[in-house]
Amino acid sequence: MAGEVSLPARRTVVVATGNKGKLHELRQLFADLPIDLVAVADALPTRVEVVEDGATFEENALKKARAVSAATALAALADDSGLEVDALGGAPGVYSARYAGEGATDAENNRKLLGALDAIESRGPRTARFRCVLTLVDPHGEGVPLVASGACEGRIAAAARGHGGFGYDPIFVVAELPGDRTMAELGDDEKNALSHRARAAAALRPALRAWLGI
Ligand code: IMP
Repeated sequence: MAGEVSLPARRTVVVATGNKGKLHELRQLFADLPIDLVAVADALPTRVEVVEDGATFEENALKKARAVSAATALAALADDSGLEVDALGGAPGVYSARYAGEGATDAENNRKLLGALDAIESRGPRTARFRCVLTLVDPHGEGVPLVASGACEGRIAAAARGHGGFGYDPIFVVAELPGDRTMAELGDDEKNALSHRARAAAALRPALRAWLGI
């Protein structure tokens, strides 16, 4: 019919995470694309156990995406991310989620990190960065896996502040913003304008669009 616009078919992509904060942000970051990001818990009746024993964020992200894609026979998107603190030699890094032990809460991880920095004799600048690697695996696709990364520089605050975001956000002061604000003091849109995850999403976008055929 004249004037009819054909919309691209929407694709279902399973997000290989149990972290609600990550899923929420990824949905916002890719909201304009014709993809439905589905939580792995909603796609499968059982848990997919993935041992995150990779030495890098990329290795762990690929492991998670491959495992979830194999279990669901659907395309899977994985996010592996974490915090690197210079005065701690890059820790907690790939161990960020379980820094204070397996199953640790965000508050426990934050407390341990503040304690580790307080225990260091020489008071350095407490510089740190968040890193994120996003991978997309498609069991039927060509040109996959897609891999992209992003980082956000900052420093560790003296104490936790703010209630937004998740994880280490309350103790991470964003370097590029004035006013000493922690990531947890930013609104969703502000975090999504500069976060490591937003930058990885922007870097992934051209390949993701090509994969979608748009
Ligand atoms: P993963 O599931 O192994 O990738 O764990 C990532 C961990 O890094 C999370 O549990 C958080 O503790 C931390 N992390 C990753 N991204 C963020 C973020 O955007 N804000 C705060 N903490 C984050």
